[in-house]
Amino acid sequence: AKDAGRNCLYFFDPAMQQALSARAQMESELRVALQQEQLLLYYQPQVDAAGVLTGAEALVRWQHPQRGLVAPAEFIPVAEASGLILPLGSWVLQQACKQLSVWAKTPGLSDLSISVNISAHQFKQPGFADEVLALVKHFQLVPQRLKLELTESLLIDDMAFSIERMRFLKQQGVGFALDDFGTGYSSLAYIKQLPLDQLKIDRCFIDGLPEDPNDAAITRIIISLANELNLWVVAEGVETEAQRDFLQAIQCPGYQGYWFGRPVPAAEFRQQALNRKQE
Ligand code: C2E
Ligand code: CA
Ligand code: CA
Ligand code: CA
Repeated sequence: AKDAGRNCLYFFDPAMQQALSARAQMESELRVALQQEQLLLYYQPQVDAAGVLTGAEALVRWQHPQRGLVAPAEFIPVAEASGLILPLGSWVLQQACKQLSVWAKTPGLSDLSISVNISAHQFKQPGFADEVLALVKHFQLVPQRLKLELTESLLIDDMAFSIERMRFLKQQGVGFALDDFGTGYSSLAYIKQLPLDQLKIDRCFIDGLPEDPNDAAITRIIISLANELNLWVVAEGVETEAQRDFLQAIQCPGYQGYWFGRPVPAAEFRQQALNRKQE
């Protein structure tokens, strides 16, 4: 065609145009969602090796008026690209802290912790540490019960900064988990420098258990490494009894996955947690 050499042609590629406007559409809807409180948190149980409930991971959902319940994989990337991750992340953090303060006053749930996913952009905000500490104070939380989940790529991007920010929060008692462990590029030398409390073994390694010899070896090594470094470990995505049994046999301390419970709204989590206590 006569316009083939022109860059602007790309913008009129109908497929791309459609993708762009779908993104722009979602971005503006996400703005509305934040204003109109269409977001909510689901909570997924975390248990120890004896099966005792220790806490929950807070996972954001979007109750969209037309699309129904939207999973974070669909809108977190849009939120990241648009900067909306900042108000979204603040909302999640505040909501999780509020929930933690409710549990702290609920007999049977009072010693549970909550893990919150923190995006890179959010963690690097100048006011982030103050924001966390203000929430701890406002909701009168035991800071050790708040665990911030960070990813390797986020931390390694600027190690000196990450270490300093983590140390500062850790001095105040706030805990840190390294999320999706094993999927990034980080060397063990890096891990050693970080003031972490917990490693979360990525689901991709748990998937192949107990049959896959590579996954079994990797899982074993991560658990003994964590042991040496005095870190708690949570195996993510435990879906079957066989996976649970294997992990128990190699002394994995913490567990999360559909086998123990799916992410559910706070009211349902509360009900299940109280029933579990009575068993
Ligand atoms: P993640 O942090 O790795 O969270 C674990 C994901 O695995 C969750 O997906 C959870 O529902 C899912 N999962 C848990 N157990 C099982 C299992 O046994 N089998 C399988 N197949 N899946 C399991 P979800 O809730 O869709 O969240 C996806 C990702 O979105 C999270 O991965 C996290 O990276 C991000 N995310 C979720 N909530 C937030 C948030 O509040 N802030 C930020 N920045 N990211 C979030
Ligand atoms: Ca996580
Ligand atoms: Ca994870
Ligand atoms: Ca993940």
